[in-house]
Amino acid sequence: MVIDAHVHLSERPDDALIPFARRNGLRYTFDELLSTMRTHGVQHGLLLSPPLQDGTPLPNGDVIKLCRRSQGTLSPIFTVEPTKKEVASVLKLAEQSKKEVKGFKVRLGYIKASAEGPVFGDLYDYAEAEGLPVLFHTGDTASRSGDLSLSHPLNLDRLANRREELTIVLCHFGSPWFEDAAELVYKHPKVYADMSGLTTGGGTYGRKLSQWLARKVSEAIYFIGGAEKVLFGTDYPVTKYSDALDLVKLLDVEEADRQRILWRNAQKVFGL
Ligand SMILES: [Zn+2]
Repeated sequence: MVIDAHVHLSERPDDALIPFARRNGLRYTFDELLSTMRTHGVQHGLLLSPPLQDGTPLPNGDVIKLCRRSQGTLSPIFTVEPTKKEVASVLKLAEQSKKEVKGFKVRLGYIKASAEGPVFGDLYDYAEAEGLPVLFHTGDTASRSGDLSLSHPLNLDRLANRREELTIVLCHFGSPWFEDAAELVYKHPKVYADMSGLTTGGGTYGRKLSQWLARKVSEAIYFIGGAEKVLFGTDYPVTKYSDALDLVKLLDVEEADRQRILWRNAQKVFGL
């Protein structure tokens, strides 16, 4: 059993992840995603808005539609932008689709706001009350204009201090700041990290990069003392299923921990 905690899809020509898909030789379509998941034994995926060429995320309503079309294979995570209006409309949509929505996502580093921005107060209140996780983009940004000072994983420490009931997921394990992300996961009972979007790039050193990533994540798990709060994710189409699953195979951890990473932890965090 495998659960992918981080998938993107839009089927729109202005989807900004299309260049990543092409680089990976992917068609990046609904049918390809579902058949690839089936081929790799991935039963479930959490679907997040991809960015569009104008910098905005795919509307959450479209994410719901794609999930409904998948008949239970994909579940929506709503992306929340930093304006009062956006937060209010996402919370309204979450109320209307209570049985479907599995969490929220904040695009740190891409938006001009920090995780502690007061604009997100209502979102965190709602997420805490409903027991829904909030995913934060952390680490490297896919565009040169991204703001690393806002996406560094340590930016979530104050929020986690202040919001003990909030489940926080650090997307991409804070890459390349694995140790900083590990410290947060170790320090805070409700902070998790996902492994999505790691094996991208590397060029001539692709294989070496995978080995380095496997070492970094394994060592982070040793530091944390276990893999109870590490989640498998691809970031499809940024990373291919085969590469993301190979990375989990390369981890030097106990088999029980591999199973936790592949599905057990996600089942708990997303209430699947
Ligand atoms: Zn992503």
